[in-house]
Amino acid sequence: NTAANVRIRHICAIGAGYVGGPTAAIIALHNSNVKVTVIDQDERRIKSWRGRHLPIHEPGLERIVRFARDGTNGSMDTISEQHQDLPMGQAQAGSDRNPSRRPNLFFSTACAETIASSDMILLAVNTPTKMHGVGAGRATDMAAIEGAVRDIALHAKPGTLLVEKSTVPCKTGQLIKDVLEAYRPGVVFQILSNPEFLSEGTAVRDLLQPDRVIIGCESTLSGHRAAAALANLYAAWIPRSNIIPTNIWSAELCKLAANAMLAQRISSINSISAVCERTGADVNEVARSIGMDPRIGTQFLKAGFGFGGSCFRKDIASLTYLAESLALPEVASYWQAVLIMNDFQRDRFARNVISRLNNTLRGKKITILGYAFKKNTGDARESPALDVIRILMQEHPHTIAIFDPLCSESDVKRELAVLDDCRGLVQPNGPIEIVTDSYLACADSNAILVLTDWDMFKNTKPATPDKFEATELPQLDGATPANIFRLPHSVARVTKPPSPPQ
Ligand code: NAD
Repeated sequence: NTAANVRIRHICAIGAGYVGGPTAAIIALHNSNVKVTVIDQDERRIKSWRGRHLPIHEPGLERIVRFARDGTNGSMDTISEQHQDLPMGQAQAGSDRNPSRRPNLFFSTACAETIASSDMILLAVNTPTKMHGVGAGRATDMAAIEGAVRDIALHAKPGTLLVEKSTVPCKTGQLIKDVLEAYRPGVVFQILSNPEFLSEGTAVRDLLQPDRVIIGCESTLSGHRAAAALANLYAAWIPRSNIIPTNIWSAELCKLAANAMLAQRISSINSISAVCERTGADVNEVARSIGMDPRIGTQFLKAGFGFGGSCFRKDIASLTYLAESLALPEVASYWQAVLIMNDFQRDRFARNVISRLNNTLRGKKITILGYAFKKNTGDARESPALDVIRILMQEHPHTIAIFDPLCSESDVKRELAVLDDCRGLVQPNGPIEIVTDSYLACADSNAILVLTDWDMFKNTKPATPDKFEATELPQLDGATPANIFRLPHSVARVTKPPSPPQ
């Protein structure tokens, strides 16, 4: 048993975000004898994790957090009810082993103390694209990783296991070692790479039933022991055959590569949708046909606005930067093309809308239905809506009314503020309105753009193949008829002619 010398009693996750919070909750659920503490510098976020309303929306997460955080006050029956379709034991194992369990999931801002008492630390901090300086726009900003590792170096016990959960450039393990050595010379820490593959909106399901768990370690005896200790935690609910050992660099790279390839499929089908619109081919029919080839498969073949969210763009940017820094410009430009196609798709959509409205938005109201980067999440980071709004704003519309069932006004405002063009525009009497009622948002609108595939915006009518679709949303009966646009279709039917330019 290679894990013989590594006993894990206390795990700490640094970063109480979309990865750190749910991952910690599921590990705690299935390892009731292990204490799990999530730490973050963001006091408000920690307060929410401790309170009634979690800071992130993930179906099924609230009950699991309540159960592990508050003990048997949360009912495990309701958790398994929510995940009835999962194999037996997937959602129940934690409670079955320990019916009168004590709370073992904690949230704290006491970073130093928590790090000091942990046997294993999960690094789940943000790794956005660098905005300024060397590599701006492409390189990964390693500031949060470096800051967290510095805290670990200053406070952690010798021998603590460090697990990279954040998505990082290949060779980050070496950077972590260097920082540790600089602050705690001579003290040995074990570093593992265990990239997270969850998707927002399905995080609980993805964590309960992952396709694979990759654990990269150094090929030394202590490296293998560390990996075995982490594997044992996962083995509480995941079959051993799905836990894959690799070297650290492979583990780091496989996450970037997986995201790049998923995004590439989206850009590929979007490029085909542009050809369809010019030729009369139907992209849905094309996607269906090519998806029936088992070598291609059906997933991620839906033409639309392209990918959004905090991961795909920045991970491809990171991969291109990595390729450049390895003197592989051809590899860099290959992946760069995926981003170019993504931008092209949004640009094409927004310009099509403007063109349908007589090439001017002056005096007009545009409604945006959906602001989250995809359905079932309140995350608005890098949402397609943001890019579309930026282009529309250049045409000086009278109003852009935004409605999303989950994104709060502050989420929308925060993301809009990132756009230089939109700074200060979300003021009372400003052109951008965030509306909490979808009917009001659509009233007197010249065009309704459905930019997130929320079920509530689903259209019951079949889409017209080669054009932007214009039809009434059944859920919006009573709203003023207007042009409704969604990709991959151009306008097929206009229920209200656009107002003349004012
Ligand atoms: P996030 O921004 O939601 O959360 C990161 C948290 O880390 C923030 O709350 C921040 O305050 C905290 N933090 C940063 N530095 C800290 C420090 N030194 N001490 C304590 N707290 C600190 O990010 P996320 O979406 O959870 O992503 C985290 C990582 O996981 C990223 O590398 C991302 O690429 C990767 N990832 C994300 C997803 C996803 O769907 N969001 C999926 C897989 C992997």
